[in-house]
Amino acid sequence: MSEAREPTTYDFKAEVKQLLHLMVHSLYSNKEIFLRELISNASDANDRLRFESLSQPDLLADDPELGIGVTLDSEAGTLTVSDNGIGMSRDEIVEQLGTIAHSGTARFLETLDGKAQKDSALIGQFGVGFYSSFIVAEQVEVLSRRAGADESVRWASSGDGSYTLEPAEKEARGTTITLTLKPDEKEFLESYRVNALIRKYSDHIAFPVTLGVAGEEDDGSGEPVNKAKALWARPRTEVGDEEYIEFYKHISHDFKDPLIWSHNRVEGRREYTSLLYVPSAAPWDLWNRESPRGVKLYVQRVFITDEATQFLPLYLRFIRGVVDSGDLSLNVSRELLQQDPVVGVMKSALTKRVLTLLERLAREEPEKYATYWKEFGVAFKEGLAEDAGNQEKIAALLRFNSTASDGLGQDRSLDDYLEAAGEDQDAIYYLIADTPEAVRNSPHREALRERGLEVLLLSDRIDEWVMQYLTEYKGKSFRDVARGALDLGGDGSEKKVEAEPTKEQKALLKRIKRVLRDKVDEVRVSDRLKESAACLVIGEQDMGFQMRELLKATGQAPPETVPSLEVNLDHPIVGMMTDTGGEDRFEDLSWLLLEQATLVEGRPLDHPAAFVRRVNSLLLGAGSDA
Ligand code: ADP
Ligand code: MG
Repeated sequence: MSEAREPTTYDFKAEVKQLLHLMVHSLYSNKEIFLRELISNASDANDRLRFESLSQPDLLADDPELGIGVTLDSEAGTLTVSDNGIGMSRDEIVEQLGTIAHSGTARFLETLDGKAQKDSALIGQFGVGFYSSFIVAEQVEVLSRRAGADESVRWASSGDGSYTLEPAEKEARGTTITLTLKPDEKEFLESYRVNALIRKYSDHIAFPVTLGVAGEEDDGSGEPVNKAKALWARPRTEVGDEEYIEFYKHISHDFKDPLIWSHNRVEGRREYTSLLYVPSAAPWDLWNRESPRGVKLYVQRVFITDEATQFLPLYLRFIRGVVDSGDLSLNVSRELLQQDPVVGVMKSALTKRVLTLLERLAREEPEKYATYWKEFGVAFKEGLAEDAGNQEKIAALLRFNSTASDGLGQDRSLDDYLEAAGEDQDAIYYLIADTPEAVRNSPHREALRERGLEVLLLSDRIDEWVMQYLTEYKGKSFRDVARGALDLGGDGSEKKVEAEPTKEQKALLKRIKRVLRDKVDEVRVSDRLKESAACLVIGEQDMGFQMRELLKATGQAPPETVPSLEVNLDHPIVGMMTDTGGEDRFEDLSWLLLEQATLVEGRPLDHPAAFVRRVNSLLLGAGSDA
């Protein structure tokens, strides 16, 4: 690349152009955050260098004091942020500043529909990072030299769709980013203003941030503007909420405030500090088990990794934070982390800590807990299957929609349920369907409604799977009311005096079964129906629809489940069938019983066209009868 003295021009990837345009317009009211983003990146770069220097001490060379400098030059109209961290090679610059490396941001762009108002509300949910410079700068120059490398590179752009690259001279390793401010952004050349911003947004940064003004004599002291101490290493009583919140934004790349956090120092046999946050919104890739997650791990203040997944179970994958261990070795590897018994002990302690934090949120700030549940409830429920040891605590934190809820929201706890049910009721009844509407309107509820029994209404994709693990809560067992024989007993006084079906009725059931054949396992009289004519019931051990879908999604063929059809003998349609002589009409009615029982569960029919034909023929028949 010897001839490349001339800068070479490259186009940004399309999504970068889109992001730049959007950011400049929609984040304008928040423009000062660019400084936080640049200092945050500088801090990450220093962290990374320190980590790499553990195995390659040469990288620190003769410049071991890592820091961050901000320089203001009012004559040139520039604001510069520099670090002596890891730096970037030419390829890294192209990769990291010319494309959108974060899948989250790319996905974010897909959700945009060009309606400015909605888009600008959305953009706040995603980390915007380096590109936020273009909100205030007409020109951005990045000068960088990778630690250990000889060449430096200059990247420059005015944010209009292209950037230039050229070899450059830079004496020391690290990165220097110079913003040529737009004419009406000169406020960022005022040192009192920038000083205040650094304290507001970057006080928690663990490296000293110094502020200099070009042309003015350095006062020699080089006093950092920020506290320059790892926030989690400071005593809890000395850290303000604002600082905790800013620190969260720094480590999570999230723009929103967290819901709650917990900061603890453990001393004694094990020594570690943890600072764990519950975010207020789920990342778009919460469901991707491969997506980055985990806490930031430090060992004795030295950054080790951003994605330490070993410290929390999978169902708490949305928790963000920092763990700083005094016991682990500095050159701990991923593999070692997996096996280290210290890590196992920390994992179970941190899990308890999160559960306790959630209990506190639920107790003290129910509204925030409702937000938590809406965002993360479905992931959290996986804990029933994953973490048997904490099942009672997890169960107490669950929230359900139920027949006692006002709307479709999940707002009832199991304790609410037990309190309303009273001592005598020995079961907790629940029902699972695909959608909140289907479960609410399910015929299986009818007998329980008549008895005034509350039913938990479950409709999340994984409910059937996780409910297999939850068999008891505070001594009461769970009952799926759509399965098996429905025994609402438990109060001996009200022994059912269910009349045996008459001979005639038995014949009717048999006749229906002859029509439906292997589509149903059995046709029998129902105890659960009051208003509906028929419903489908599966056996205690049968695989339900949700589990079948989950299996299919993983490419496995679920075993066949053939439901039974329960018929309400008191229903006028069924009464009408008893009197029906014509075989065609009887067959139509039998199929319709099965089809309506299927539809009411929100399931698709095997043969919708045949269904429509039957309904039409019955409608016409009814018309001509009249
Ligand atoms: P994020 O910080 O969330 O990764 P940014 O847009 O802020 O996203 O930065 C993009 C990438 O550019 C960073 O991940 C990093 O690899 C690189 N980068 C930015 N600033 C620096 C810097 N000062 N030193 C080294 N690399 C940097
Ligand atoms: Mg960043």
